[in-house]
Amino acid sequence: MITDECIFCKIIKGSIKADIIGETETALAFKDIKPQADTHVLVIPKLHIASTRELNQSNIVYLSEMIFLSNKIADKEGILNSGYRWIVNTGDHGGQTVDHLHLHLLGGRQMLWPPG
Ligand code: 5GP
Ligand code: ZN
Repeated sequence: MITDECIFCKIIKGSIKADIIGETETALAFKDIKPQADTHVLVIPKLHIASTRELNQSNIVYLSEMIFLSNKIADKEGILNSGYRWIVNTGDHGGQTVDHLHLHLLGGRQMLWPPG
């Protein structure tokens, strides 16, 4: 299901523009509007799953497809060998601001640990 209000569902529908750089049948990758690294791509399921908390046995395949697509994007963006970071924020303490599951693919600079 795609929802009317969700900003990422609107990107899937094309009613909000995004810099789309890859997709599969069930996942979409586009550049983050406020990049935190040279490469900052968001990979989302083409189904409204609000967060990791809504993953279950029937929709978990969407997550593996997102991971698979993100590696293709990492290769395309030239950061496969230098390395990258995946981030998935969940809920308030996780720092999630958009309630549509998304994987941040960050690379092109040294990542720090621990995260803020
Ligand atoms: P979160 O904080 O939920 O983990 O990440 C949401 C991300 O979505 C943020 O990095 C934010 O910059 C990005 N974002 C929010 N609205 C838009 C938008 O309309 N277009 C794009 N491309 N990215 C967005
Ligand atoms: Zn959505």
